[in-house]
Amino acid sequence: MIQPFYPPQRTLMGPGPSDVSPRVLAAMARPTIGHLDPEFVRMMDEVKELLQFAFQTRNPLTMPVSAPGSAGMEACFVNLVEPGDKVIVCVNGVFGGRMKENVERFGGQVILVEDDWGAPVDVAKVEQAFADHSNVKALAFVHAETSTGVRSDAETLCALATRHGALSIVDAVTSLGGIELDVDGWGIDAVYSGTQKCLSCPPGISPVSFSERAVAAVKSRKASVPSWFLDKNLVMGYWGGGVKRAYHHTAPVNALYALHEALVVLQEEGLEQAWARHLRNHEGLRAGLEAMGLSLLVEPEYRLPQLNTVVVPDGVDEAAVRSQLLNRNSIEIGAGLGSLAGKVWRIGQMGHASNPRNILHCLGALESALAAQGFAMDRGVAVAAASAIIE
Ligand SMILES: *Cc1c(COP(=O)(O)O)cnc(C)c1O
Repeated sequence: MIQPFYPPQRTLMGPGPSDVSPRVLAAMARPTIGHLDPEFVRMMDEVKELLQFAFQTRNPLTMPVSAPGSAGMEACFVNLVEPGDKVIVCVNGVFGGRMKENVERFGGQVILVEDDWGAPVDVAKVEQAFADHSNVKALAFVHAETSTGVRSDAETLCALATRHGALSIVDAVTSLGGIELDVDGWGIDAVYSGTQKCLSCPPGISPVSFSERAVAAVKSRKASVPSWFLDKNLVMGYWGGGVKRAYHHTAPVNALYALHEALVVLQEEGLEQAWARHLRNHEGLRAGLEAMGLSLLVEPEYRLPQLNTVVVPDGVDEAAVRSQLLNRNSIEIGAGLGSLAGKVWRIGQMGHASNPRNILHCLGALESALAAQGFAMDRGVAVAAASAIIE
């Protein structure tokens, strides 16, 4: 007989999912009700309002897509890119590469702007791309590149798109709730996020928001959207509010209870306070890592506080350190992806997981794992350096 599954208790300090707070887990266990029940519909309206708060937008088309962040990405591209459309796609890590693939699959013409993994999107190169090409439909880039731990200048890039009459499509999967994101203030046209990074919800839902300009672009398409499930024209009948909700798909009822609760938690803390907490805890972790003799991959001004990319020192077995953390300390940290595989660790401090206890736990465990690898360092200095900042 197969037994019930009881997952181990972990501390999730990788690139996501992040630790889910007990409040959110408890919300998820509340009774399932019908997805057209008036009480559920009332909660949906609140989820929309809370997402508008988190994104800092008044966009009426702001809603959770019932699928993970990748589906939010696809929802943006499948609705906004038509065959032949020119799209400038910035690639400085894994997720920019996926944006490129989306544009290609929907028949768009990619104008590629590439930057090194570990560097931000170069605004001057994007400016050049706009100078070299006319009639660009959209500019697409990743605000917080989780594969490298880099923040790009979303405000400047979106202003550039607007100036050239192009839509901006922004990946905010890892930025929402962790660093400043101002959808209306920056003039972002289409943005998608995920629940399992800085919102600290279980994975599986993707908050998305479209500006009026983006909605107009969807409505003026020549051909119908080549995805039934992600077609915004259809989903709007369910999430649009107003008169009457029409059945589109069965909403993931309990997963939406979790998102509602996580957003209530964020609202209680306040956006600025959440960003400040992520930054302070990042400074603590960084001080501890440097005291140990480790260095971060990314230049200080482009670092994401919620995702720290740590360079693996020479002679240290990258995978063995991660295994020891997981098996002895029950801490999950991430490995490098693509060209950074084997060269870095990715230590996340996202949402609920960004707290002093986790930092000290992680630094202590990392010290033991590095000592087991024969890495020379002063024992105890990391925790002391971090404590001086976060306590
Ligand atoms: C995690 C992530 C995604 C994909 O989200 P999934 O929920 O795994 O589909 C997309 N973009 C970025 C920047 C991410 O960090």
